[in-house]
Amino acid sequence: MDSTEAPQGVIQAHLLRGQKALVTGANSGIGMATALGLGRAGADVVVNYVADRDAAEKVVEEITSFGVRAAAYEADVSKEDQVVAMVDRMVQEFGTIDIMVANAGLQRDARLTDMTLAQWQKVIDVNLTGQFLCAREAAKEFRRRGVVPEVSRAAGKIICMSSVHQLIPWSGHVNYASSKGGVQMMMQTLAQELAPEKIRVNAVAPGAIKTPINRSAWETPEAREDLLRLIPYDRIGDPVDIAHAVVALSSDLMDYVVGTTLYVDGGMTLFPGFATGG
Ligand code: NAD
Repeated sequence: MDSTEAPQGVIQAHLLRGQKALVTGANSGIGMATALGLGRAGADVVVNYVADRDAAEKVVEEITSFGVRAAAYEADVSKEDQVVAMVDRMVQEFGTIDIMVANAGLQRDARLTDMTLAQWQKVIDVNLTGQFLCAREAAKEFRRRGVVPEVSRAAGKIICMSSVHQLIPWSGHVNYASSKGGVQMMMQTLAQELAPEKIRVNAVAPGAIKTPINRSAWETPEAREDLLRLIPYDRIGDPVDIAHAVVALSSDLMDYVVGTTLYVDGGMTLFPGFATGG
């Protein structure tokens, strides 16, 4: 699936001009669309990947065609030394970082009594600890540099990729739902801690977005129909829907937005079962 299919025209090319963004897990799905969106909005972009360098290089090539700088950096976000080295390298090569999008995530699904400790641990390590490490390293650089008024009113922006499952329990996915519940409290705590330094921390919580992570939920007509029952707006989301939210949240248009989760879910968190029941 091509994440660039949906219209991109609403992104204004000057919105993030002069800013430097890093997107984790940016060679696929939501991260890829977000990296492209930030590039279209005028930011230079580091495309993080852990596997499939070719896909990352393709994203870099497309971003570069918008007239901004981009590079692909390999790092496993769950490994402290690799995250430290990635942000250090960005500061060396790009001068600084203004926007950290902690997007990388995965699922290892199983019902409770079948779930191994390794499945639990892997999801927590990548989805929660990975975001902690990325936020920490970005915040150090934001603090060192402070506000540069010609670039942005904030010293830096952190966007955590959460999920509607920070709110909606999800049977058979206790590791994933717990990691996203953790992301919500981590995001709010960091927002409270860092706001006095003019560092804005927010989250985007996607609903059902067509990406490789949830292929089984939208691939067959039956699965699609089941899924659409949960979405009042009656369409499955595109990665670009999330990219638009991240671009807006990281721009000065949203400078007074601090510690908020923006649900981008076609109304999934309106509990549509209650439209007729309850
Ligand atoms: P995806 O599988 O297409 O992308 C996930 C990306 O994360 C991939 O590039 C993968 O290589 C990367 N990644 C995994 N482990 C990593 C690691 N250790 N270090 C660095 N990168 C790593 O899936 P997606 O749907 O684009 O997911 C992106 C984010 O959006 C995830 O955090 C996911 O939980 C969240 N999300 C997705 C949906 C959806 O419906 N697709 C809904 C809610 C939340």
